[in-house]
Amino acid sequence: MTAPNPFPFDAGDFAYGTWRLLDDEVQPTPAELAARFEHCFAAGIDTIDTAEIYGLYAVEAAIGGALQANPELKEKFRFVTKAGINIPSQEKAGVEINQYHATGDNLIACAEKSLRLLGLDALDLFLVHRPDWLTPPEDTAAGLLQLLEEGKVKAIGVSNYTPSQFETLDRLVDGKLATNQIEFCPLHLAPIYDGSFDQCLQKKIRPMAWSPLGGGRIFADGDEAGTRLCAYLGKISPEYDNAPLDALVYAWILAHPTRPTVILGSNKTSRISSGVKGGQISLSREHWYGIWEAAQGCSIP
Ligand code: NAP
Repeated sequence: MTAPNPFPFDAGDFAYGTWRLLDDEVQPTPAELAARFEHCFAAGIDTIDTAEIYGLYAVEAAIGGALQANPELKEKFRFVTKAGINIPSQEKAGVEINQYHATGDNLIACAEKSLRLLGLDALDLFLVHRPDWLTPPEDTAAGLLQLLEEGKVKAIGVSNYTPSQFETLDRLVDGKLATNQIEFCPLHLAPIYDGSFDQCLQKKIRPMAWSPLGGGRIFADGDEAGTRLCAYLGKISPEYDNAPLDALVYAWILAHPTRPTVILGSNKTSRISSGVKGGQISLSREHWYGIWEAAQGCSIP
């Protein structure tokens, strides 16, 4: 029997994703970002998901600026960050090729930098962003355990790990991996086939689902699968009190027995408010499979 994780982490039904935080033409001021985070909190979201690499290494500092503008946010939110991807930038001397870097020493240095940029004493959850094929898992594990021991992180986990990579690392950290953050939406079904969700069920951990709208593809003009899916969502919406289509997609994700945390990635407060309504929607079996079918363009095998 698997022992319960002594450092569990549950982000709730929704976390706020910050990958695209600085992508709009007009850059938000720290006060505007703080107001957006307040909006998320009022909508029931109390976890912020970020990563060292977001915004070409600029997003963590922007979040830190918002927390300085409104320090109360530090108490309201749990903060998740990720590290272990290096891309050419002023931040990474000597890096001329995109690469993964999940050595223990690098993870510790990155976590310390995240704490500095965010202005926090501890990270609520620290994730290895991608498996680094070149680093022995013992090395990665040693760094994660040291961060836990020193109290710099309260929980540890991974992102984009295959089930066997997860299992290997989890054994080396005594079953302390709290989550696997993976891509999941009706247009990207890998976790239900590749064993990732089965593993989460077995270990009783809650996965986090990134790009829940396929990175916006579901609503993009001219995307064949997206168009089919939107037509079906529009057809069933009246049966759910005219629920917004994105909320129906989030409800579809949350319906999986692992109840994956939806990492909501919109920069628009109206979409944040309407999206979280998906947490209250219980799709019928008929409609869950209907969404599967519309997205895939064929019936189940
Ligand atoms: P997403 O929700 O799939 O895509 C967000 C994009 O869709 C935004 O550009 C958004 O534009 C657009 N969008 C949202 N609602 C829309 C609607 N109703 N109509 C049209 N467009 C809409 O999420 P994501 O940003 O790809 O990912 C979410 C979060 O997951 C990220 O912020 C990050 O925290 C995390 N993530 C993790 C990994 C990893 O490797 N661990 C990888 C990718 C992402 P607006 O802003 O204009 O609404």
